[in-house]
Amino acid sequence: MTPKNKTKKLVRPPIVVIMGHIDHGKSTLLDYIRKANTTEFEAGGITQHISAYEVEIMAGGEKRKITFLDTPGHEAFCSIRARGAKVADIAILVVSSEDGVKPQTLEALDCINKDAIPFIIALNKIDRPGANIDKVKQNLAENGVLVEGWGGNIPAIAISAKTGAGVPDLLEMIALQSDMEELEGDPSIPAEGFVIESDLNPKQGISANLIIKNGYLKTGMFVATSGAYAPIRAIENYKEENISEATFSSPIKIVGWSAGPKVGSEFKTFSKKEEAIKFATETNQNNDICNIFQNDCISFGVVIKADTFGSLDAVEHELKKLGNEKIAVRIISKDVGDVSENDIKTAKIKNSLILGFNVSTDKSASGLAMRDGIEIKNYQVIYDLVDYVKEKIKEATPVETVEITTGSAKIIRVFSKNRDKQVVGGKIEEGEIKSGGIIKIYRRESFIGTGKIKELQIQKLKADIAREGQEFGTMIESKIDLVPGDVLKATSLIRQE
Ligand code: GDP
Repeated sequence: MTPKNKTKKLVRPPIVVIMGHIDHGKSTLLDYIRKANTTEFEAGGITQHISAYEVEIMAGGEKRKITFLDTPGHEAFCSIRARGAKVADIAILVVSSEDGVKPQTLEALDCINKDAIPFIIALNKIDRPGANIDKVKQNLAENGVLVEGWGGNIPAIAISAKTGAGVPDLLEMIALQSDMEELEGDPSIPAEGFVIESDLNPKQGISANLIIKNGYLKTGMFVATSGAYAPIRAIENYKEENISEATFSSPIKIVGWSAGPKVGSEFKTFSKKEEAIKFATETNQNNDICNIFQNDCISFGVVIKADTFGSLDAVEHELKKLGNEKIAVRIISKDVGDVSENDIKTAKIKNSLILGFNVSTDKSASGLAMRDGIEIKNYQVIYDLVDYVKEKIKEATPVETVEITTGSAKIIRVFSKNRDKQVVGGKIEEGEIKSGGIIKIYRRESFIGTGKIKELQIQKLKADIAREGQEFGTMIESKIDLVPGDVLKATSLIRQE
């Protein structure tokens, strides 16, 4: 779609995310919609390589496009949101008509509400004998979600992701909701959107999957995100086909990034490489989490054990927020149950810490941990656990030092030179210079070398320090032949917190 009219805004297909409690049928629904509405299966199955796909449906007698994001779980989606991104236009909250509202249903709701994403409830598994739609609607109302017919206006559609019953109604509802949102896009401006996935492939290099929220891009342009950019040599669509241009709401894959783009970060497109590099550099925030493609990223491994899947999720969610530009928290393994010998073995191989939440440690595991020097910490309060990990991260973070100038002096006379030792006279212009200190030598404001202050004298008397305004004599050890007018700068390294 090459833009013809510079200011023309077009209707933009909605980007939809599916959330809900585990096992309530998110993946089954995504699979059903994909199979029923795309032609990609003709070629004998698909290895889905972009975690998003586009479908075309008929709604109100019109052909409509919808893009579905296939996020592995709502934690991943919520963490994208937590970094300030509003990726999805509409959310589908899948609730099993048998089981009703569960902890992750509430977590997903929390995430949807924080971002004010319009949402539709999909009451799934209506083909099951135990399904009770009214009971679930009541259950939703008890949790503050008032669906249509229950005193509210949140659409709720009864479906079976397995048989497909009700799914066309759900898709129609998405189209309707999207009309109400009046989603628009401008195909004449350079594309912008979000990184939904990034990956390091030994053959291809660094690749990233992007979702375009507005604008267009084509081969020959440059795409950039915080800390990384890529020339657009090729564009792949979700069907793994090479395309030469793409526009809003499409998920695409671009390879050949300079560094690993961070999932959830915003991308922009430029026609010039310099502009892309400028954007990548300027938006690179130091407090971004450690990037797995960075060489100096330290992994901080943890094995998590918790009493329930709900608390396991909660611990994982909290831990994923930690880390800094140097350290990434890596969850080596996670499970419910007491800390076992197996956990100790895993922790030993991966050099990790074991974090227990509302669990205890098997006797045999305690002995093994003691023998192998593996640290096990058990907590009852999640914030205590988080505080402990924060403290450990702080300890493990390499101390950054910065060099500061503590004084500068100008050379007035050079008295003698013997090999690399020279006796000079000078005056302190700023700060102070200490005997024994290292100095940097500048000539006409350019750095030309280093030296060491071997002896310092003020008015022919030995001194430890020469201060601002004082004239001094000194013996300097340096390979540089000093001349009057050279500037000596004393430096020291300080820790940066
Ligand atoms: P997810 O964890 O939310 O992605 O859930 P899945 O899609 O993996 O579904 C969990 C289980 O429920 C699987 O065994 C599905 O086959 C089953 N399931 C999902 N939707 C339906 C449905 O509408 N009817 C029936 N009978 N089973 C379903």
